Amino acid sequence: ASLDRIAAAEGDLHAFLHVAGDAALKRASEIDQLRADGHDLGPLAGVPVAIKDVLCTKDMPSTAGSRILEGWVPPYDATVVARLRSAGLVPLGKTNMDEFAMGSSTEHSAYGPTHNPWDLDRIPGGSGGGSAAAVAAFEAPFALGSDTGGSIRQPAAVTGTVGMKPTYGGVSRYGAIALASSLDQVGPVSRTVLDSALLHDVIGGHDPHDSTSLEDVWPSFADAARAGASNLALSGLRVGVVRELHGEGFQAGVRQRFDEALALLAAAGAEIVEVSAPHFEYAIAAYYLILPAEASSNLAKYDSVRFGLRVTPEGGGTVEQVMSATREAGFGPEVKRRIILGTYALSAGYYDAYYGSAQKVRTLIQRDFDAAFSQVDVLVTPSAPTTAFKLGDKIDDPLAMYLNDITTIPANLAGIPGMGLPIGLAPEDGLPVGIQLMAPAREDARLYKVGATLE
Ligand code: GLN
Repeated sequence: ASLDRIAAAEGDLHAFLHVAGDAALKRASEIDQLRADGHDLGPLAGVPVAIKDVLCTKDMPSTAGSRILEGWVPPYDATVVARLRSAGLVPLGKTNMDEFAMGSSTEHSAYGPTHNPWDLDRIPGGSGGGSAAAVAAFEAPFALGSDTGGSIRQPAAVTGTVGMKPTYGGVSRYGAIALASSLDQVGPVSRTVLDSALLHDVIGGHDPHDSTSLEDVWPSFADAARAGASNLALSGLRVGVVRELHGEGFQAGVRQRFDEALALLAAAGAEIVEVSAPHFEYAIAAYYLILPAEASSNLAKYDSVRFGLRVTPEGGGTVEQVMSATREAGFGPEVKRRIILGTYALSAGYYDAYYGSAQKVRTLIQRDFDAAFSQVDVLVTPSAPTTAFKLGDKIDDPLAMYLNDITTIPANLAGIPGMGLPIGLAPEDGLPVGIQLMAPAREDARLYKVGATLE
């Protein structure tokens, strides 16, 4: 059914860069056979899943939305993909994304944008717009995303889906093509909170291949979601509304649905208070120094020698000329912009002023969170300032594009979990609105409980 739906919808959406087709059907019948043979398979065995193209898959190309990796088939599976396979989920294909996960609209994909199923003239969010659109359009019941500054939560907001950025270290990054290693986390995308919890249970947990992987034993997120799905589940819960992240600058319909969601939380027994996070206004500035710095280092490996594209100038060339021609042809403008920003921020003489200052701001933001979580159990904000904007609207204005992630970036800078879930449609344009929930590091289960209550 998923493959049929993909065949019908892809002409409009372009959510996928690769569709597994017969390989998916074959795997599905293998799972049926295992079940018929009496094997005890987990709750998600046989369920199809779409995989963001930033994740390595040994049987499908993994391009991260870039020409420089066009056609590259990795020699191994990302840990999260291996875990999906052993739980019996059926990979449906690879989803479209902004090149190397840089963007908020999928318009920076080297393979063309994805369209929002709610309105084909609008963006599906980014960088994981393909995963969110695939789930929103019923091409796939589940998808995987990655979130460095909002790439799971912002697409979820603008497509009416659920997306979870786990605690940093809660899900393995092994085999996830790196953007900014201190910020990247892989997480689930789905249509319900319980579905995300079930997927998180499969992909999460310690991985010795990832040196930043936490050794914690995690509770069942599905159990947490089930505990939340009752009317008065939240009595005694303190919910903090971040003063700096609602109100001014947010679309009227986003504010309206957000206020209604707060009323629902209160009706379920939560106490709503306002908290302040004075340094959040510097989050985007700090992020756009830290991210490019880390990205410029991570992207140095696309050198035309190790993998992917190789462009040789006419008549040959030195190693340096081949590298330069390859990177010129293989990287898109946003990637080049960030490499230049990052190498500048890290260069001798500027390091302390830029990268060093940004790291200090990061600490101040973490302290804002610590202070807030000494008063409340959960923080809430709208997931994004506006509903889906029109394709083309912000593509020539990097700063306008960057400002989209004002609500989501702080959680990445602090390494804490953040969940986005739908809370209705904005009255003025009929497009989905999302709420973001954040909890202290390691308290992912709390988000599943609160999220399920709101649903
Ligand atoms: N939109 C943000 C950026 O462009 C976040 C991207 C992400 O989370 N991968 O960096």
